[in-house]
Amino acid sequence: MFAQVIVDVAHSQVDRLFTYSVPQALNVELGQHVLLPFGRGNKEIEGFVVGLSSDAPEGGYVIKSITRVIEPYPVFTKEQLELARWMQKSYHCLLVDALRLMIPAQLRGGRIKEKTLRTVCLTEDLELNETRKLLLKRDGTAKAPRQLEVFDLLARVGAPMAIKDIAEFLPGSQGAVDALLKKGFLVEQGFVTFRRPDTGKTAPAAKDVALTPAQQAATDRIMDAMNAQKGQTLLLHGVTGSGKTEVYMRCIQACMDNNMQAILLVPEIALTPQTMGLFRTRFGESVALLHSRLSAGERFDEWRRIRLGAAKVAVGARSAVFAPFSDIGLIVIDEEHEQSYQSEQTPRYHTLEVARRRTAFFNAPLVLGSATPSLQSYYRAKYGIYELIELPERVQSRPMPDIDIVDMRDEFAQGNNSIFSARLHQLLGECLSMGKQAILFLNRRGYSTFVSCRGCGFVFECPNCDVSMTYHRAGERLKCHYCGHNEALPGRCPSCGRPYVKLFGVGTQQVEEQLIELFPGTKTLRMDLDTTRTKDAHERMFKSFAVGEAQVLIGTQMVAKGLDFPNVTLVGVVAADSGLHIPDYRAGERTFQLLMQVAGRAGRDTSPGRVVVQTYTPEHPSIVFAAQHDYKGYFLYELMQRRAALFPPFALFLRALLVGEDEERLQRECEELGQALERVIKSALGDEAVNELMYLKASFAPMQKKQGLFRYQVLVKLLRTGNTARVLRAVYDYLDENSAKQLIRLEINPGDLF
Ligand code: ADP
Ligand code: ZN
Repeated sequence: MFAQVIVDVAHSQVDRLFTYSVPQALNVELGQHVLLPFGRGNKEIEGFVVGLSSDAPEGGYVIKSITRVIEPYPVFTKEQLELARWMQKSYHCLLVDALRLMIPAQLRGGRIKEKTLRTVCLTEDLELNETRKLLLKRDGTAKAPRQLEVFDLLARVGAPMAIKDIAEFLPGSQGAVDALLKKGFLVEQGFVTFRRPDTGKTAPAAKDVALTPAQQAATDRIMDAMNAQKGQTLLLHGVTGSGKTEVYMRCIQACMDNNMQAILLVPEIALTPQTMGLFRTRFGESVALLHSRLSAGERFDEWRRIRLGAAKVAVGARSAVFAPFSDIGLIVIDEEHEQSYQSEQTPRYHTLEVARRRTAFFNAPLVLGSATPSLQSYYRAKYGIYELIELPERVQSRPMPDIDIVDMRDEFAQGNNSIFSARLHQLLGECLSMGKQAILFLNRRGYSTFVSCRGCGFVFECPNCDVSMTYHRAGERLKCHYCGHNEALPGRCPSCGRPYVKLFGVGTQQVEEQLIELFPGTKTLRMDLDTTRTKDAHERMFKSFAVGEAQVLIGTQMVAKGLDFPNVTLVGVVAADSGLHIPDYRAGERTFQLLMQVAGRAGRDTSPGRVVVQTYTPEHPSIVFAAQHDYKGYFLYELMQRRAALFPPFALFLRALLVGEDEERLQRECEELGQALERVIKSALGDEAVNELMYLKASFAPMQKKQGLFRYQVLVKLLRTGNTARVLRAVYDYLDENSAKQLIRLEINPGDLF
């Protein structure tokens, strides 16, 4: 027997298959994690078995053999191996980098304390069905229930397991294992492995709420899709507070009842103790929770509970899309518009695409949920590529909160220099005196980057690109991040001529200070990257706010999503503009989404909510449509803009980023690369389609220097057509053949263009 192995070394030169022989005594399976001698020195390193064959390879070189297997069960399923190969191609990454996403770090690099453990597996050549019958009475019930459970567990895992591991999933099963060994159904193998304790806690099951008719209809349609097994994608567009979570949970329950597994993906910031409590209560031991605050050991435990079939539902952020289930019946992506679903590290995968690939494999439905679907998803739903399901109202007919727009230019004209408008000041006073709670929200993105006039609201924009420019301290210049256009920062506003040109942005700390000045003695909680660094800070703050220890929660994006505090009646958006003028064509869409989300935090209980949005551009469509809770109106507006400017989804951005120490060399290589890519793309497009290449420019990156390294880029804009895939293929091939991969990072529809 021979195994094709990928070594666990992330380097392009070894990212290929090596053939090893499998010693007779070893039981090596596809997807197994193994130790093998490598290189001239035969150093022992780790690798993964991605292929098995009985034919000896040609070539006449010496074939080394696998030393031993590390875990007794395969760490990858066949489907995951296939997924990794697809990622390698689609995202142009190393196969081993794709594989690494699918296993916990704890599993790799000899980090596990090894221990010799007794392991058992089903006896080879056992006829499973026949043998299983021997464990049943005439009436079909188990003779010895524990024995049957152990038998089923091992059949499901399909690989040897440590007896201790079995006992962890099936407490008190030691005797059953011994009995099965005696019967000859199991054989013992002495494996070297490891284990970690703790499987998480159970909670009592919650009582069922009655679904609203809209929720029922949505649930029915998703269930239909599960039964149809056609691998459809459904978009659940439901306003904030419409009860999407309850719909997900019903469908996940149905999935489990069918003996299949489900994955629910949520943005990391939505993985609050609140949400996790909800899922623990509903699904108890069956749910594995994967979030960034887990320790390495806890993460490993959760992974293993999934892999070995103890957990049937995985709830987690982006990386949970790789949960090692073997029979997926449903994947749900909540808040599907969130940017965090795009990985910004190699491999730069998009969660939605990976989920799509997995559900297609299992013929299971993919459900995308959001109050503010991404333009792309809604566009697809509109054109029938996705099925659209709508929840247009909040549960129990709770009203959407009223949204007041405050024009901060007027405030400034009336001599109010404070962060708070008169309106917000007044409502805060009322809210506090009534013993209610408030959330003050600050958009952190674009902190102090865009430049505008405090007198008239004029924002400096690029003449070529219709995006705002950013201020670069070096040289005091305004720059466009898309085309490189730059100009000097004037002292006076080009629109009104007054000397009020100002760099924008306030911090949470400033807000807190001014709030306490206005309302001395107010208890506040500040939630931003600085105050939530420690492991449990998040959880402590939420708890403290939930029990009313603070009256005002001040925060960045972290407070915008998923929170459900019944006592919050006021939400203040301190500066709605701060995200509007970042140099990104999605700035408007993101601001709209964020405003809708933040507004959704108010009035979630019986007392109605109020939202105050402070802005210097009250006429901006992102703000106007958000204030009217009008998603569809905004969608149509924004789609028109994108069509006119030929931005995604009508086009595709692609950039090759070059990073290095030697700026001159980088500049030269960047120009050469630009010329080469132009050639490659044009020839891939052919004469008729050559104008689908709309833009190609080699120049320095917007962030020209980062962490001491210079950055240059070739930015390409392509019309999205049937030719796009072929062009990408040609670009990848070119890069593979012609460049030192370490220097170049290729990004498609880059998450951010800095
Ligand atoms: P969304 O995720 O769509 O914003 P949630 O799932 O957070 O909405 O639901 C909002 C609130 O409504 C939650 O407190 C939830 O417990 C409650 N809820 C959901 N469905 C029902 C129902 N059918 N009846 C009563 N309350 C419900
Ligand atoms: Zn420009």
